[in-house]
Amino acid sequence: MTSRRTHIVGAGIAGLSAALAVTEDGGEAVLYEAAPHAGGRCRTLQPAGGFAHDNGTHVLFTANGRALSLLKTVGARERWFEPEPQGLPLYDARAGQMRRVGLSPWSWLLPSRRPQGLALADLARILRLVFASKECPVASIIGKRPIMDSLIEPLTVAVLNTPPSQASAQRLACALRQLIRPGAGHLLVARNGLSEDLIEPAVATLRARGAAVLTGQRLRMLLVANGRVIGLALSDRTVMLGPDDRVILALPPYEVERLLPDLSVPTRFEPIVNVHYRMRGLERPRFVGFTGALAQWALIRRDHVSVTVSAADAVVDQDSAAVAARIWREIAPALRAVGLEASPDRQPETRVVKEKRATIRQAAEALPQPPVRPLANLALAGDWIGSLPATIESAVMAGEHAASVLHHARGTRATLSKDRALKTEDAA
Ligand SMILES: Cc1cc2nc3c(=O)[nH]c(=O)nc-3n(C[C@H](O)[C@H](O)[C@H](O)COP(=O)(O)OP(=O)(O)OC[C@H]3O[C@@H](n4cnc5c(N)ncnc54)[C@H](O)[C@@H]3O)c2cc1C
Repeated sequence: MTSRRTHIVGAGIAGLSAALAVTEDGGEAVLYEAAPHAGGRCRTLQPAGGFAHDNGTHVLFTANGRALSLLKTVGARERWFEPEPQGLPLYDARAGQMRRVGLSPWSWLLPSRRPQGLALADLARILRLVFASKECPVASIIGKRPIMDSLIEPLTVAVLNTPPSQASAQRLACALRQLIRPGAGHLLVARNGLSEDLIEPAVATLRARGAAVLTGQRLRMLLVANGRVIGLALSDRTVMLGPDDRVILALPPYEVERLLPDLSVPTRFEPIVNVHYRMRGLERPRFVGFTGALAQWALIRRDHVSVTVSAADAVVDQDSAAVAARIWREIAPALRAVGLEASPDRQPETRVVKEKRATIRQAAEALPQPPVRPLANLALAGDWIGSLPATIESAVMAGEHAASVLHHARGTRATLSKDRALKTEDAA
């Protein structure tokens, strides 16, 4: 009997999810990751001599069933918790006022949890958005209403990382239909950090199941013959595949395009700018939203505060120090309002992380989608596959789907013995 191995390229969330799916029933998986660590766009940075922080704050919702199930599988579900169970504190930087807003529409029954400016007429617009059947920008449904500022814009850039004037109403609607279910709108964050509370437990689970996670291994080229992959040309080795072996490319679209240039993939991206301030924070993390400011969200952890600016096209090329100084002046009063010592004139040590291709741009247009299995024994995964917002949830789902597609596919086996003739060095 020949062994059947699944070679997974990319150890971001999609690759880790695919590997967990493959190994769940005893399947054999090898992961190849170009970077020195797993996690991809979802990881903790530990600069030498600096303070550890996530590349950017990641939130999950209780609606994200697949992501939460992955956390459970790797024993990390309890590490994600709801920082603001009473509703999200929103600081209006223009008025200098803080109020709480419920994320679930059910909580709006309480006047104190309603988004500012919400009127009866807005409910009809919100319903049109939730059940959007035709593609159009989010802004064209909501219009210039006060709730654009207080609810729709923050929600759209948080979920789609694309401004409402361009963002796909249908993609947002997919997320909203999940979020409005009772109990689904609770916002969760990692207690300590993305690597400690998600990536490391996932890698440890995979290793315990016998999977190999090889870092520093960039896939340079796919070796293809007769419609199937026969080998992987990696940084320092070429791995030849057995007749029953499969490959999952869990990579961003631009890497898939480089490796398989005939495929049509999304080519436009949106940046996220993250600013991290080293300061005495809070033992129990808090999460604060902003309106009327460049800052959109702040996560307060024990020893730092992380600020997110999504859909950051307008600022990503600006001077980092100037952006950080502006944001500090904006957030200092809100930090004081939650009990921290923060003066607008005394900016703490700061680190700015610019993710220029944080996600694909999720505009109101048909995005190119290649077939999930473009070669007989190769499937694609990644947060950009499918019609859901590009998030941890979609990356988990895409990884699981790729594993399942290959598992159930007929005809992934090699037919030509000469395929094996190339110089080879086995994985693992
Ligand atoms: C700042 C920021 C904030 C975000 N906030 C949220 C949030 O709040 N909630 C949420 O759900 N999502 C959020 N996201 C999105 C989330 O991070 C992504 O959807 C998810 O991490 C994508 O995972 P992935 O595995 O599809 O891709 P990636 O994480 O990009 O993984 C791809 C992996 O492949 C590796 N690789 C690339 N080329 C090669 C090659 N040739 N050979 C081998 N390896 C290769 C990369 O190094 C990487 O590790 C955020 C993203 C960013 C950047």
